[in-house]
Parts: sequence; C-alpha cells; structure tokens
Amino acid sequence: MKQTDTPSTLLMIFGATGDLAKRKLYPSLFHLFNKGKISKDFAVIGVARREWTEEQFKKHVEDSVLTSIGTKENIDEFISHFYYQSHDVSDSESYITLKNLADSLDNKYNLHGNRIFYLAMAPEFFGTITDHLKSDGLTDTQGFHRLVIEKPFGHDLPSAEQLNNQIRESFTEDQIYRIDHYLGKEMVQNIEVIRFANALFEPLWNSRYISNIQVTSSEELGVEERGRYYEKSGALRDMVQNHMLQMVALLAMEPPIKLTTEEIRGEKVKVLRALRPLKDDEVKDYFVRGQYGPNETGGRGYRQEPNVDPNSNTETYVAGKLMIDNFRWAGVPIYIRTGKRMETKSTKIVIQFKDIPMNLYYNRDKPLAPNLLVIHIQPDEGITLHLNAKKSGQNVETTPVKLNFSNNSVDGMNTPEAYEKLLHDCMRGDATNFTHWDDVKLSWAYVDKISEVWETTKETEFPNYCAGTAGPKAADELLEKDGFYWWPIDNLDVDNC
Ligand code: NAD
Repeated sequence: MKQTDTPSTLLMIFGATGDLAKRKLYPSLFHLFNKGKISKDFAVIGVARREWTEEQFKKHVEDSVLTSIGTKENIDEFISHFYYQSHDVSDSESYITLKNLADSLDNKYNLHGNRIFYLAMAPEFFGTITDHLKSDGLTDTQGFHRLVIEKPFGHDLPSAEQLNNQIRESFTEDQIYRIDHYLGKEMVQNIEVIRFANALFEPLWNSRYISNIQVTSSEELGVEERGRYYEKSGALRDMVQNHMLQMVALLAMEPPIKLTTEEIRGEKVKVLRALRPLKDDEVKDYFVRGQYGPNETGGRGYRQEPNVDPNSNTETYVAGKLMIDNFRWAGVPIYIRTGKRMETKSTKIVIQFKDIPMNLYYNRDKPLAPNLLVIHIQPDEGITLHLNAKKSGQNVETTPVKLNFSNNSVDGMNTPEAYEKLLHDCMRGDATNFTHWDDVKLSWAYVDKISEVWETTKETEFPNYCAGTAGPKAADELLEKDGFYWWPIDNLDVDNC
C-alpha cells in the first residue's frame, strides 16, 4: 500500500448507523484506505443513537463495504480503526465521554489533535451538535477542526441564515465544508478543465457563439421512502438550489486568476450574483413545475406514494430559464430541468452553438444540425462534440457526426465516487469543491422567490406528467417560445461506453 501525505485525522461521524454512512461514507473511506490515500494514523468514531457495541458497529462497517464493493481485502486492518459511541446528540453529558474517547485515540494514533466532525444526520441537530462540540471542549486541541455538513442547508434563506449563524458560533467559515456531492463528480470537476484547458472552446464560450445551454438532471426513481422529507422540499429546494445552480456557476464563471479555492469560489459567486432576479409575475414565464401521476403500466403517482398528501401541491419536476446579466452571457438562456420518475436516469449538459452565418449546404428538407458540445455527467461520463461532415459519395451533402470521449472506457474502471473525493479533499484541507456560505445565500435568495409564488398558487393541473415520461408539456413550451427545444437525452448518449 502506498503512503500518503494526507494528515493523520480523527473522523467523528454523527449518524453512523444511518443510510448515508452505510452506502457512501464507509465504502469511500475503505477505497481511500486501500489506495493508501489516508494516513495510516487515523481513527473513526461512529456516533448514533442505537445502543450498539463496538463489535456490532465494526460488523456494520464491514457489511457495508462488502455490499458496496464486494471485497474484504485489508478489511480487518481497516475496521480496527473504528470505534463507537451510543449517544443521543441532544444529551449534554455524552459529549464529555466522547471527548475522553477522542483524546485517548489522539494519543493512541498520534493524531495531533486533527479532527473532522461529519454530520450525517438530520439538519435539525446541526446547531445542537456544533454548540456542544465547542462548549464541551472537543475543538480544544492543537490540530485542525473541520465540520462537514450534509444537505439540506436550511429550507429557505431565513432558515439557512439561522443555521449558519448558529454553526458560526463554533466554527469559522473556512472550517466548514458544506457537501454538494455533485461537486465531487468527475465530469462536473471536468467542466473547468474542458473550458479553460482548450483553445477550441474558451474563445467561443460566450453570447457571440453560444445560443443556449441546457442542463438536465433526471431520475427514473420516484420519492421511494422519502415522501415525508420531499413533501416539505420538492424538486426546487432538493435539486435546483444546490446541484443545478452549482453546475450553472461552473459553466458560466469567468476564468479564475489561479486554481485556488478562493479564486474559483470567487468567480462562481459572481455568476450567482448576476442571475437575473424574478418578479412575482415573471415566475410563470421563467419556471415550470410538474408532478408525476400514475402511468398505464401500474407505476404509482406521487400522490399515492407513502407519507405524501393525496392532494399534494409539491413539485417533483422543475424546468427553468436562467438569465445571467453580465457581459459574457447577455441574452443567452440557460435552461435547467430536473425531475423524478422520468423516462431516463441522466445528468447531462448541452452547449448549443449558434448557426454559422451563411449555410452553403442549405437543403430545405434537411437543414444543418447545430454544433453541440455535450458533457455527460452520469451515469455515462464523457464528452461528445456534434459536428457536420461530408456524406460519402459524389454529392456535397452533409451528415451529422459525433466525436466521443468516454471517461468510463479510458479508466477501464469506475471513476472514484464523489464522496471518496470529497472526503479526501476535506482531509487535505481543500475546500474548493464544497459550497461557500455566499453561494448558499445567493442560491436561496433566487429560489425563494419561486417557492413563494408557487406556495401561494396551487397548481390545478397536477399531476401533469405520467411516471416514466419526459416531463410536462409546459417545459417544452418554455423553450419553444424562444425558438429552441430540449435536445432528446437518448440521442445524445456517448457511443461505445
Ligand atoms: P438516516 O435517517 O438513515 O440516519 C440518521 C442517523 O442519525 C442514524 O444513525 C441515527 O441513529 C442518527 N440519529 C438520529 N437522531 C439521533 C439523535 N438524537 N442522537 C444521535 N443520533 C441520532 O439518515 P441519512 O439518510 O443517513 O441522512 C443523513 C443526512 O444526510 C441528512 O441530512 C440527509 O439529508 C443527508 N443526505 C443523505 C443522503 C442519502 O443518500 N442517504 C444523500 C444526501 C444527503
């Protein structure tokens, strides 16, 4: 096993028996461990309410690794670093025991007081936990102290501000790592490289050459068991406020002066500041909401899902048109759409270039296809460039061709999971791919206007798309009125991956 320069760390996972820890955190840590990317001096304390013994917890970690990765190589050594404390996070006294355990592991593994507190729990506990971490002395050590927080970060701007103020009582902004797992995805991280490392693209990346951008994130699954949470959230808060706006910021930002955390985050924030704010009566012209209904093959509608109001007004689909009012993007619509129970699971970005000024090959029956750059985020990872070329034969006829780059086939194996990369970044103190409070604040301010209007106007057409389809008709009309249409996801697939 290679050794690493990642500092030794004590990782405390609050919510250690939960779904996120099991499906994402333990397998990611195991990968990092086996790749030699974490220091051999590390320890993990799992904190959760269940009264498990340490052995039960270790077995749980082992099972989660086995289920997810299918190998147990080095597992005994890996789980020997895991400890468990059964602890209700609202119970003040347990923090003293936790501190004693942490201090003893500090000595045992020579961790230099470096601590990461990962809150894999419901957000209502975040403030209580951070208050205790400070007041009970868990942050009184020499090393670094980092707080990792899962989404959702509030459910609107006032609640996010309240949460942020409470957390900031105990941690400074540069100690807070707000997870947006899209920022850990390989091809989302690739957006900057595609843009800023290619002379071919960056000169064209503006309103003179780009006609519109389309960002799609669709899921085949419905809300499953998360109806209670989703009823209060909806697609706008669950997807647009964070993941979709973060992808837009990366697509639209100016080149940073350097690839440092501050410079990159600074440029992203400027995009969010330039988002054209909507007035109440403009929301309907820029945003469309949808809710899935039952389909003919017996697929349940959203209103029939467990823990969902049979008359629910919650949206499971959002399409929107964003305008960025700055020099680079004046007049270029950026369309976004995201939904549950769609026909395909896919996250893709399509950059559509403007038509060339004069078409020498114009054929009334077959107009030239526009050039497209497609960035495939998931499940396929890659890039496709759609061009026009000559059709073989004597006539000068054009035919669309695709240049493909598939990340999956280059690596020959799965690229690292987003959580693996983000955990590693956090251990190394690199906050670039985590959201800054300024992003969170501006995103909520933008999205809140839309939710306010939607909350006061019940959507009489719900449900307005059948489970397993491409979404409501109104989403197509949103683009049609600008003379565009959504590029069909299936036709954009990366070949041969
Ligand atoms: P979960 O309900 O599966 O697990 C919750 C954990 O919190 C359990 O370990 C439970 O023991 C613990 N817990 C609850 N109340 C407690 C208390 N009073 N004291 C101590 N421990 C307590 O939740 P989850 O799905 O793992 O989600 C955790 C967080 O991650 C949430 O903020 C969620 O929004 C976020 N998140 C989850 C996922 C996912 O895939 N599961 C994805 C993105 C974000």
